[in-house]
Amino acid sequence: MSNYNWCHGPECHTKQTQSRVRGSGDNKVLRTIKIKQGRYNGYQNGIWDYFCGNHCMFDFIRTHLQSIVAIAPRREALETPIKDPVKNTEYRYPPWVIEKRV
Ligand SMILES: [Zn+2]
Repeated sequence: MSNYNWCHGPECHTKQTQSRVRGSGDNKVLRTIKIKQGRYNGYQNGIWDYFCGNHCMFDFIRTHLQSIVAIAPRREALETPIKDPVKNTEYRYPPWVIEKRV
């Protein structure tokens, strides 16, 4: 099994960086970035095993957004119980609420 992935950014192969240039003479191309799996030791659930950077990740999400949310659609709001919340005065933005300590 290969321990590399090609970046999944749909436009990765069009970005004009030196690291993407392959070939010689008049046959040069811009190629999708090859990513070594585990390069960040699974940081952020290994998402960086599939994308060379934020730009390619967001290009992918924009291109495939409807398919992605269809995997786990949210049809109603979720709720988390919180007892006797009070406004946290330590931070101005955003105005978080915290549970009142007993
Ligand atoms: Zn990329």
